[in-house]
Amino acid sequence: MSVSLGMPQVKKAGAPDDGQQQTLPSRPGDAGPSLIDRFGRVATDMRLSLIDKCNLRCTYCMPADGLAWLPKELLMSAGEITRLVRIAVGHLGVRELRLTGGEPLVRADLVDIIRGIRANHADLPISLTTNALGLDKKAAALKEAGLTRINVSLDSLCPETFAQLTRRDNLKRVLAGVDGAAAAGLGPIKINAVLMRGINDVEAPELVSWATHNGHELRFIEQMPLDADHGWTRKNMVTAAEVKERLSGRFDLRPDPRDRDGAPAERWEVRNPDDGALLGVIGIIASVTEPFCADCKRTRITAEGKVRSCLFSHEETDLMELLRSDASDVDIADRWRAAMWAKPAAHGMDHVGLDAPDFVQPERSMSAIGG
Ligand code: SAM
Ligand code: SF4
Repeated sequence: MSVSLGMPQVKKAGAPDDGQQQTLPSRPGDAGPSLIDRFGRVATDMRLSLIDKCNLRCTYCMPADGLAWLPKELLMSAGEITRLVRIAVGHLGVRELRLTGGEPLVRADLVDIIRGIRANHADLPISLTTNALGLDKKAAALKEAGLTRINVSLDSLCPETFAQLTRRDNLKRVLAGVDGAAAAGLGPIKINAVLMRGINDVEAPELVSWATHNGHELRFIEQMPLDADHGWTRKNMVTAAEVKERLSGRFDLRPDPRDRDGAPAERWEVRNPDDGALLGVIGIIASVTEPFCADCKRTRITAEGKVRSCLFSHEETDLMELLRSDASDVDIADRWRAAMWAKPAAHGMDHVGLDAPDFVQPERSMSAIGG
């Protein structure tokens, strides 16, 4: 049965923007085996955190002293992770998996986890978001285990600025990791960069030149209020509009004609302003100033097996309790579906610091949620 709900209208990903109210399901499960929410969005993209721990201390994410890491026994085991992915794909329509953290390379059993997932899902795209420390030594094994692709976070190509931003003097090792991933066939590599005012914002054109020259796709991500130090301010955040302005002096940016298909990044062709030659493609993720909540396809699982329907959720739904009981796959799928059903319409972050005095930063910071 489907009914039309008197709820805020949210455009469904890919749906024509014709102003017509959509027919939405009345409760989880009405739309079949999918992670559908009250607003008709269907989550097919799963972000799974493998660990909360990290070996860098990026200022926009972690405090200088790190956080109280979860004890090992509270982290999902390789077997529990494999099972959750099987349920997500088999019962809930998940079609894409991103492994993240904390720093996923810190997990000693990462290769086994990927091999275990791949054994059940020959065609599932599996990507990994990493700071690339040590990736040069692990890339070949990750590829062999079945990893499809890599996203690397890299905010600066200047050793001093990198050290200032991450509180670790490790730029060379990260660059070696990126090269190792490319050599192992883990491309196309996406590079994530967060620009911080007065620190690395001047480097935007350099980062684009480096990425396009090396055949990587750079994505600028607006800094979000998800840092453990609660130091985010709207004034200091470098907006997507500013990024485009900084690049316009050096490059000719033209909208990528390909369909965005619910992806968070708005993609731009980078062209040589003199002869129009295509140098590469970049993405700009304007999570704060131009939120894409209406098209969100994400479901998130924390390292200790909790569902978060949104990065900015204040609620989590525990699946670990079920994983460690005699609950069936169907029981777990039902709880997951109910958690996603309650996904909020939007994160409200676009008004933080403007007219949203009620916005409350989630208790957990980015590394503890799984970015
Ligand atoms: N450690 C891995 C890494 O850095 O790629 C994976 C986890 S990290 C939390 C995932 C992504 O979140 C990184 O690209 C990082 O730049 C981004 N991130 C962390 N804190 C952020 C914040 N406050 N705003 C925007 N992006 C953030
Ligand atoms: Fe670690 Fe990634 Fe957070 Fe940096 S952004 S501190 S690398 S989890």
